[in-house]
Order: sequence, then C-alpha cells, then structure tokens
Amino acid sequence: MAHQTMVVVDPPVHGAKSILEPFFIGPAIKGIGRNSYRCGSCGTVLLESVHNRDVLDVVVKCARCGNCNEPPSDGDAP
Ligand SMILES: [Zn+2]
Repeated sequence: MAHQTMVVVDPPVHGAKSILEPFFIGPAIKGIGRNSYRCGSCGTVLLESVHNRDVLDVVVKCARCGNCNEPPSDGDAP
C-alpha cells in the first residue's frame, strides 16, 4: 500500500472537475487499489485503496480542514 500526499488546490470552477465533498471525516472513496491519498493540509486519508487512474480528475474537499485536494500529478504509474 502506497500512501501519497495530495496537493492543496483552490476550489475548482464548478463543473470543471469532479468534486467529492464527504460530510464525514475519512476517505471519500474506498476501493481495492493499492494507493491511498492523504489531505495535503491535515493528513486525513481522503482516498483509500484506489487506483491512480481512477482519481486523476478528482478533487476532494477535506471534511476536517475544508481544503480542496488533488492527487499529485507525478504519482506512480498504475
Ligand atoms: Zn484536511
């Protein structure tokens, strides 16, 4: 399991990307991949056990600190 830290970004323009806004503190997506992503600000796991390719265009708004996060663009190849 690889843990990666996401990049804090400005909230994207509406409709430009898929924004996940979980209302709970914890991963917005739990899958069966081999990568997990943490909030770049507070370290909360926002994407757990996902495939890199599935989350490339996803922005996750952290329920704990309120920052928007994107996966790092230079992540490991799937
Ligand atoms: Zn956070």
